[in-house]
Amino acid sequence: MSKRDYYEVLGVSREASADEIKKAYRKLARQYHPDANPGDSNAEEHFKEVAEAYEVLSDPEKRENYNRFGHAGANGQGFGGFGGFNADFGGFGDIFDMFFGGGGRQRRGPEKGADLRVDVEISFKESAFGVEKDIKVPRSEECGTCGGTGAAPGTSAKSCTACNGTGQLQFAQSTPFGRIIQNKTCDRCRGAGKIIEKPCATCHGAGQVRRSRNIHVKIPAGVDSGTRLRVTGEGESGLRGGPRGDLYVYIYVKPHKIFFREGNDVICEVPLSFSQAALGDEIEVPTLDGAAKIKIPEGTQHGTVFRLRGKGIPDVHGYGRGDQHVRVKVVTPSKLTDKQKEALREFARSCGEMPSEVEKGFFDKVKDAFMG
Ligand SMILES: [Zn+2]
Ligand SMILES: [Zn+2]
Repeated sequence: MSKRDYYEVLGVSREASADEIKKAYRKLARQYHPDANPGDSNAEEHFKEVAEAYEVLSDPEKRENYNRFGHAGANGQGFGGFGGFNADFGGFGDIFDMFFGGGGRQRRGPEKGADLRVDVEISFKESAFGVEKDIKVPRSEECGTCGGTGAAPGTSAKSCTACNGTGQLQFAQSTPFGRIIQNKTCDRCRGAGKIIEKPCATCHGAGQVRRSRNIHVKIPAGVDSGTRLRVTGEGESGLRGGPRGDLYVYIYVKPHKIFFREGNDVICEVPLSFSQAALGDEIEVPTLDGAAKIKIPEGTQHGTVFRLRGKGIPDVHGYGRGDQHVRVKVVTPSKLTDKQKEALREFARSCGEMPSEVEKGFFDKVKDAFMG
């Protein structure tokens, strides 16, 4: 039986990208799927043809072989581990993923290590101006004794005899659209393909050990609680020679006694005595850069906010600096001497029964509110 060209079967060019091939395959597989064409043996043939073409073209090595040797390669020689394929259509990971809900296939190539998270607490001032810290990170690292193989020094892992080192066992299954060879993870070697007869004493055969490392982290100025910094390549070690994962540093800023943050602005409250507010004064207020002076004008009300430009927090992306807002809190005196009380009564008398026009205005408003 002569075979159609795999590229022709999928309707893609010879230069098609992996993505284009995948897309074409999915479309055709859906179109010819036996469930969508019950009893149509023609559709079933198409389906098998499409699956076979995809099995080859989706694998860079097999595709390369096919490009060089054509179908001849598909029948054995050129295709490593490809024998038995023509007996049935079967053993295709992606078909299982698609129609049987995945599973069954296990990747055994290099794998990137897992990402790690550490939480770091810093002070308000450190968040404003940045800080460098050494952070303790417990993580897995390649075992130095065995170099990551898991086998005792001087010995090496043996290929698993149950699965011939593939890590996979095949078993046949009958389905409505043919006999299928399905793979499962080898239970003797648990998919590793290797058996360690004499495990390394340091890592007990794992090839990795837990270790606490000090990682130097630069925390930029302007970070806030919840900021996440990524330190590339400082996570868990990779598997089978894969790269390390990344380390994510989550920032927590300790609350400050007098400052709090709103965006890049710093807010603080300063107490003011009744006479300072009434007569005016010059006061000293704390800022991130040290003390600064503010002029309080005569007759300042409780809650008035004064702005100190550029005394806030630097923007974490470098776009300038916020302001500081100083809100004054007029404090009513609570411990007065007889002499002070007399002076205040004298002051009250000088204001009249219903003192200032401010209060008069307030009572007018109350009246308006009730009248509607
Ligand atoms: Zn070891
Ligand atoms: Zn095995």
